[in-house]
Amino acid sequence: MATENRVIAVEEHFVTDAYVQTAHGLDHFPGDRTEVQLTRAVERNEPTRSQLLDLDARLAGMDAAGQDMAVLSLNPPGVQPYEPADAVGLARQFNDSLAEIVRRHPTRFAGLGTVPPQAPEQAAEETERIMGPLGLNGIMINSHTEGRYLDDDRFAPLLAAAEAHRAPIYLHPRVPSMLNQYSEYGLSGAIWGYAAEAGLHAMRLILSGTLDRYPHLTFVLGHLGEGIPYYLTRIDNRHAYASKIAGAATAMRTLEHTPSEYFQRNFVITTSGVDDPNALEFALGAVGEDNVMFAVDSPYEDTAAAVEFLKTAPVTDTQRANISHRTAERVFGLR
Ligand code: MN
Repeated sequence: MATENRVIAVEEHFVTDAYVQTAHGLDHFPGDRTEVQLTRAVERNEPTRSQLLDLDARLAGMDAAGQDMAVLSLNPPGVQPYEPADAVGLARQFNDSLAEIVRRHPTRFAGLGTVPPQAPEQAAEETERIMGPLGLNGIMINSHTEGRYLDDDRFAPLLAAAEAHRAPIYLHPRVPSMLNQYSEYGLSGAIWGYAAEAGLHAMRLILSGTLDRYPHLTFVLGHLGEGIPYYLTRIDNRHAYASKIAGAATAMRTLEHTPSEYFQRNFVITTSGVDDPNALEFALGAVGEDNVMFAVDSPYEDTAAAVEFLKTAPVTDTQRANISHRTAERVFGLR
């Protein structure tokens, strides 16, 4: 019999009452109104409201499912739709609450702080506070901010701070910045738009050369890598081909490494929302068996079903221990 593994889930969303009061009171913001209204409806209406707010119920659900620890993060898209000054205040308020929760439950909860990328200098300062005095374990960024991506020079202070303070960045999806053709049939959400958006963001980081400038950054992608592992061979092939024939015509940049080498060096992926043994086996082969972490994506996915999948998936004992806790302990500095 395999020994029982500690189970750590790393994409677990919540909100505080104080955060909801403040955020829902903001009437003027540059972000997509439909996305904000949907988020507010989710945060206001049962049963999700209680599932996001009630940490005692969450602990009971974790106990019932056999989950030891949750790495908590703010409900997406967090502070990113708001005006810079509002986002700075919201992030500080939320991070203080998160740090207090983790101090109260050090063996059950860890936390990813939230930052306001629309105020890059303050986001850099907040990253330092998150990783320093607040004692948290990384940051979560919900993909684009005002339609801009982290390869944009505007965000250089934030990336420099994340690298300097060893803050892994969980690059979580949100509704795509290019909304038009995603606006029908429910496409903009988790069914497809989220993966297209977060996958685009990761590809921008790789192909722009951003990871040559910040070689020690670690990005975490949920949903088994937002589709990228499946395409790595083709991405490498097309990058090599286009680089060779016509750099100017294709706008392809020369990089120090192949795209897949960055994906294996600078990215770690999680199982959030993908309880699929075939996809997991493929992902382990693509990114390596110490680069996949367990996540539920609570409260939007079922904790008991995800833990059952983790315990029964057809992987080796070493792979299961890595997915269950060892990789999360390494990436997020968990004891
Ligand atoms: Mn999520």
